[in-house]
Amino acid sequence: PAMLGILGGGQLGRMFAAAAKNMGYGVTVLDPDNHAPAADFADVHLCKSFTDPAALQYMAEHCAAITTEFENVNADSMRWLAAQGIPVSPSGDCVAIAQDRIAEKTFIRDAGLDVAPFLAVKNAASLEGDLSAYLPGILKTARLGYDGKGQVRVKTAEEARFAHAEMKHQPCVLEKMMPLAAEVSVIVTRTRAGEVASFPVAENEHVNGILDVSIVPARVDNAVAERARAMAMQLAEKLDYIGVMAVEFFVLDGGELVINEMAPRPHNSGHYTLDATLTSQFEQQVRAMCGLYPGKPDLLKPTVMVNLLGDVWGEDGSEPRWEVLMTAPNTKLHLYGKKQARPGRKMGHYNVLAETAQDALEQANAIKETL
Ligand code: ATP
Ligand code: MG
Ligand code: MG
Repeated sequence: PAMLGILGGGQLGRMFAAAAKNMGYGVTVLDPDNHAPAADFADVHLCKSFTDPAALQYMAEHCAAITTEFENVNADSMRWLAAQGIPVSPSGDCVAIAQDRIAEKTFIRDAGLDVAPFLAVKNAASLEGDLSAYLPGILKTARLGYDGKGQVRVKTAEEARFAHAEMKHQPCVLEKMMPLAAEVSVIVTRTRAGEVASFPVAENEHVNGILDVSIVPARVDNAVAERARAMAMQLAEKLDYIGVMAVEFFVLDGGELVINEMAPRPHNSGHYTLDATLTSQFEQQVRAMCGLYPGKPDLLKPTVMVNLLGDVWGEDGSEPRWEVLMTAPNTKLHLYGKKQARPGRKMGHYNVLAETAQDALEQANAIKETL
């Protein structure tokens, strides 16, 4: 069978590999971690860095197509693989934009889509002027932030400058704090032939900066949901994006949509598609990278996805009590095979399908209490 390559072997790579195997492909994973969750499903695990020349050479020789699951993968490695004539999707250029909040927000704004007012903070001098348009705000490192890490909330210019000094004056964005009615996301798939499909809109709730639950369909007006999907597809087109991409939005009180950020890969808020759509976001990634048609993204049933963090494991590493979850109707558990449970670490998730999103949410919450 054709061999597909993936840069990164976390839980997203694991679910990608499972989907690829189900579709008859072989999988080669590049990830420096010996215990990478995706390794269990891989035919070949190259346990090397993302810039290791021999590992990249191996992928160039053996893979029919290559993708990524890791936001901070080296974009030049992806460009090098593409230069060897292998279809690499998404492109290194798209990944590079998504890796830098200044480039990302600037691109989105230039594409004619709304973002929160932001200031590109390239150095200390960037914060010298009048900052009132961005305050109260959040100072976010331009690179390497995730799960709300690398962010400081600031009320005054003084606080912003102090926080920036604490961050060693690294490149940042200062972004105005928006009044959020809700947060939603859209997973969009775009193929080389330009076909585009978007999954139904997920409504996302975070706890301590980490996604806690996704509710699908999102409890927003239909018009808002349709606009979110249209904006996500428009962004994918402007980027000439190939593959699966997540777009996170802020919903404001009047139903206005502001794009928060994008992820150049399947996304935690799309895990409901493993059970609630005929085609999962991981199968879409396989289809897109192989130049096939996107699958049907229609929702079969309203669904709530709940993240399982290491916090619900015992201090001795003992597993939560799964009894209620295992016996609940229309509920499915997914675990990522991680050896060590740590607070805040994503260990798995479960999906609850029901007749309405509200029913699914109530059932999901009731299960959570029993773990
Ligand atoms: P992820 O893990 O999704 O990649 P991240 O670390 O890149 O997260 P953001 O998505 O920028 O961080 O922000 C994390 C959360 O902080 C958002 O989901 C939102 O709840 C809140 N937040 C971020 N920016 C703003 C803002 N400008 N106004 C209000 N809330 C915000
Ligand atoms: Mg992010
Ligand atoms: Mg985010």
